[in-house]
Amino acid sequence: MLADRDRIFTNLYGMRDRSLAGARKRGHWDGTAKLLEMGRERIIDEVKASGLRGRGGAGFPAGLKWSFMPKTSDGRPAYLVVNADESEPGTCKDREIMRHDPHSLVEGCLVSGFAMGANTGYIYIRGEFVREREALQIAIDEARDAGLVGRNACGSGWDFELHLTHGAGAYICGEETALLESLEGKKGMPRMKPPFPAAAGLYGCPTTVNNVETIAVVPTILRRGSGWFASIGRENNTGTKVFAFSGHVNNPCVVEDAMSSPLRELIERHCGGVRGGWDNLKAVIPGGASVPLIPKALCDEAIMDFSWLAEHKSGLGTAAVIVMDQSTDVIKAIWRLSAFYKHESCGQCTPCREGTGWMMRIMDRLVRGTADLEEIDMLLDVSYQVEGHTICALGDGAAWPIQGLIRHFRDEIEDRIRARTRSTRPAVGTGATARIAAKKMNMQDVTLVVKPPAQPERRAGSA
Ligand code: SF4
Repeated sequence: MLADRDRIFTNLYGMRDRSLAGARKRGHWDGTAKLLEMGRERIIDEVKASGLRGRGGAGFPAGLKWSFMPKTSDGRPAYLVVNADESEPGTCKDREIMRHDPHSLVEGCLVSGFAMGANTGYIYIRGEFVREREALQIAIDEARDAGLVGRNACGSGWDFELHLTHGAGAYICGEETALLESLEGKKGMPRMKPPFPAAAGLYGCPTTVNNVETIAVVPTILRRGSGWFASIGRENNTGTKVFAFSGHVNNPCVVEDAMSSPLRELIERHCGGVRGGWDNLKAVIPGGASVPLIPKALCDEAIMDFSWLAEHKSGLGTAAVIVMDQSTDVIKAIWRLSAFYKHESCGQCTPCREGTGWMMRIMDRLVRGTADLEEIDMLLDVSYQVEGHTICALGDGAAWPIQGLIRHFRDEIEDRIRARTRSTRPAVGTGATARIAAKKMNMQDVTLVVKPPAQPERRAGSA
């Protein structure tokens, strides 16, 4: 359990003053110029030593990512881009940071931008986040007026301009290269990689794209030391983490706690438990819509970090925990995600454009129980054809929830198909018509009972 003194986000619930004055009282902007005096290399080394991994889903080591930026400029400017698109279903953690603790992000932008040699930063915020954009813009303006960003930021001699850009609400713009396209004023379509953004990103210049939470924790890591951050959690899974709980819990919430906390402990301590008690739990999607669900048996022992969830064929993703109790039609829940990915596919690559539609249509038949049993493996096969064969990770995100469903709930899918088959079985008959009907309904394994043709009823008085 995370001690209060170890919390980075001290105004996650908006109970305190989010203005610059309030943020300063809570320790933000404290000695920021001194942090910059550490120099680029030392800051990057500290972030590496802290073990900070990207909080946007992929979990790539942040310090390592920053080290890919050129050490000396070839004449092109370098950019920091903060991904505040947060469109992953179930995910709402960055939103709380931006609307209640925006100065943690603004200060983080200055320090991180300095470390990667960027004099300009862009925050790309999701179209639907109107109030969050307003709060963030106020914070940026306050920081600029106070000389904390802009020319000679914090009196450090480093110039740093920070701009806020509002997206239009497309999920795909959360993919880093689609985000860059959108930022350039183009349609948000992912780019082929390489080149990676560190070589040619925004406007063809060296760019690092990081998630809001990743950037916002950096000043505190530098102030308190990498050792402090690394002491929380476990190896390769260090630090504090903002989790978002939704679904069938008594109190859905966003909370900062220690990485590698047990899932059950988090749900019981922060959410008041699963609706109807722990034994009423059916499954959990532990990291936003793109990761495979885990059934209750795994939830009993689940550790919320990158390593444990990867070992169990799921992922920490955005740490958006979607809890489903026994009342959930889990097949329908995953179908809903399939429909989402089909809708959000940008259509550039064939496996994703076609595959998401195929998967959604088979999922639709699984929900209604009208699929053939062999379509389960066919669906799995389609998901493998999509996974890893696309330009961006949306294809993987569409495939993984389905793979998780089949891995853990195949029995439920088969039961539904069998029940539907039984309920729609035609009146037992004989001959070719009955056999064709049975074949259509996947009843090849059903032995047809052969009855003699019905005799015409004898009517009273007939001969
Ligand atoms: Fe577009 Fe899907 Fe290809 Fe990504 S995987 S580039 S969303 S078609």
